[in-house]
Amino acid sequence: MQGDSCPFCRAAHVRFWFTMAVEEQSFKIARCMACGSAMVLPRPSQQEMDHYYQAHSYGDPTLELSLALDKSHFPDSSVDAKRIIQRLKALAPGKRFMDIGAGVGFFSREANSQGFEVTAVEPNPNSAAGFAALVGDSPLQMLLSGDIVDQYVQSQDVVLLSQVLEHICDVDGMLGALSSVLATGGIAAIAVPHFGSFLSRLQGKKDMYISPPEHVNYFSLAGLDALFDRHGFERVGFTTVTKVPRRSIGLVPWPLVYGILKLSEYFGKGMIINAYYRKR
Ligand SMILES: [Zn+2]
Repeated sequence: MQGDSCPFCRAAHVRFWFTMAVEEQSFKIARCMACGSAMVLPRPSQQEMDHYYQAHSYGDPTLELSLALDKSHFPDSSVDAKRIIQRLKALAPGKRFMDIGAGVGFFSREANSQGFEVTAVEPNPNSAAGFAALVGDSPLQMLLSGDIVDQYVQSQDVVLLSQVLEHICDVDGMLGALSSVLATGGIAAIAVPHFGSFLSRLQGKKDMYISPPEHVNYFSLAGLDALFDRHGFERVGFTTVTKVPRRSIGLVPWPLVYGILKLSEYFGKGMIINAYYRKR
């Protein structure tokens, strides 16, 4: 691992951090001393991924489960969606909107209602069924890869990736696809867990988002910027947000903790990064 380069900023300053055991598998977590991100390195093999996902029949939330999980956190996704779509209305050069990994459609629904022309992409069958029930429209049930990229070259003004990039081993492949489907001047809107957050610093190796092999990338803002810059994007907007389980809010000393976490947003140290990049 020593001497490996960072998958985000490409600096050769990656250092082994710790090993994380997940059931009978183990994954090495590394940190990049240049951009401050962390990642699973070496990347999990396809065999390790298959082993994990087969054991968990994962990523199959029904609409009811997705809604219940979403409502159990404050703020919920409808609040996030309103804020993000409003921001995109100001930034995007047009109305064509692609929602990658659309889930049950919280963001697509809001984008529709604010006048965007939405193309949603969601490979998981349960999520796709939930999407159809919530949004009233069916997503393309596939991954963003070859065929769909060819079909949609330079066709979009906005591409949204919410809670997607932290799962992707081949980040360069994903950024290439993203860039292909966006028109020049188009906006990539990104939401990922924030490895530079106050809470992440506090938790260290116990960071709740370090969950291989589901999450393989733990981005700092500098790491995310470097990745997008390398693929021809410049950052045009940034905010961080914090979400907490509702059941914890009533507990002492949670109001204090939540207050500190909310305050951390104002210093760019909230739990989730929302970043907006314009394709040059
Ligand atoms: Zn780096």
